[in-house]
Amino acid sequence: MGDTVLRRKVDQRDRGKLGAELHQFARELFPICRSITGEGLRQTLSIIGRRLPLQIVEIATGTPILDWVIPKEWNIRDAFIKNSHGERVVDFQNCNLHVLNYSTPIHTKMPLSELRPHLFTLPQNPDWIPYRTSYYKENWGFCLTQNQMLGLKEGEYEVCIVSSLEDGQLSYGECFFPGTSTEEVLISCHTCHPSLANDNLSGLSVATFLAQQLLGRNLRYSYRFLFIPGTIGAIAWLAKNRESSKRIRHGLVLTCLGDRGPFHYKKSRQENAEVDRVVEHVLNHTDPSATILPFSPYGYDERQYCSPGFNLPVGCLMRSVWGTFPEYHTSADNLDFIAPHSLAESLEVCASIVDILENDQRYKNLAPFGEPQLGRRGLYPSTGGTSPELELNARLWTLNLSDGQHSLLDIAERSNLPFEQIRAAAELLLGSRLLELAVDNRADRTSIE
Ligand SMILES: [Zn+2]
Repeated sequence: MGDTVLRRKVDQRDRGKLGAELHQFARELFPICRSITGEGLRQTLSIIGRRLPLQIVEIATGTPILDWVIPKEWNIRDAFIKNSHGERVVDFQNCNLHVLNYSTPIHTKMPLSELRPHLFTLPQNPDWIPYRTSYYKENWGFCLTQNQMLGLKEGEYEVCIVSSLEDGQLSYGECFFPGTSTEEVLISCHTCHPSLANDNLSGLSVATFLAQQLLGRNLRYSYRFLFIPGTIGAIAWLAKNRESSKRIRHGLVLTCLGDRGPFHYKKSRQENAEVDRVVEHVLNHTDPSATILPFSPYGYDERQYCSPGFNLPVGCLMRSVWGTFPEYHTSADNLDFIAPHSLAESLEVCASIVDILENDQRYKNLAPFGEPQLGRRGLYPSTGGTSPELELNARLWTLNLSDGQHSLLDIAERSNLPFEQIRAAAELLLGSRLLELAVDNRADRTSIE
């Protein structure tokens, strides 16, 4: 039995404190202008690195990675559109979403008619700034509110973007905790969006805090946390770790975990991987309105991990699904859109998932002929205990199905009892010598040294 039980019963005060800390961390990272490369990304990784033993990996522009090539590094210092009075009518210093991410440098004057094709707005939400990128096609542009756009009079404007797009590096952060087994659990999140809270910072904050909870623990599995720019970062990591990626036994992409919506879990390409069952079980007992989604080859970095050549058991845990909430990829995905309570609850769900992965074992009933007399062993919960009926039920299910074939998760699923209840029963029965650990003879469990 692993000694890792991350998710203890938390009262509302604990959850409030944890939520406030998660939100504060997102707040600290919010102003940074991140992209898929550059100083904003490095600065973000260095702030995460204050909390975790994070290894920063850099790969040079032009390096081939699978079917892709590491792009040029982008950096930006300032950007604005000035009217004929010299007033900044669009100003990067007010909000970094105002610049088309990866814009090439420009400094010139032009009439509004010439500027228009480079301006992006959201007419349906006239007070929000859209988030737009142009990573793989050189372009420049500005994002502004529809109301700002309506205020622009015909005439000449000074357009300035103080950016650079040059040979450099792509950076990502990697944090590894070795366990007893060389088999790994992968936790991955993207770190490439500028001032966007739910899409980017919520997943990043939850992943950082989860890693902090695992620091210094005795672990069954080895854990690998990746803080990477979306798509290109996952492809870069896979290209560099093609062989060792085979050690990944379970994986999760964490994103959009701070909004107030119900949980969603998108299954891995395998769809019946252990992680798929584990997350479904945790959500069944956490959030009655949670939804399990089938795999699809669109979304976040699970697309790369689940590409057919790798086919890793990696699912994606979210609250609201990207693209389905109006705030997605706009300035309204801000610090008010993410709630401390939601962040804390998301972290608790992740901790419960880790608890199951760490503690799911097969046991053998040592007294399988007839029911063993529990009362004689002090295992009949007639007095005390918070829910004696539930406890008895968990013990009976665990005894009955512990035939060396059923895992504790199998038992939890079949009895419809929370895994933690079954695990506690198994621990007690093990202590009373009614169970022993079964030799793990599953054919699919191959260890790669
Ligand atoms: Zn996004």
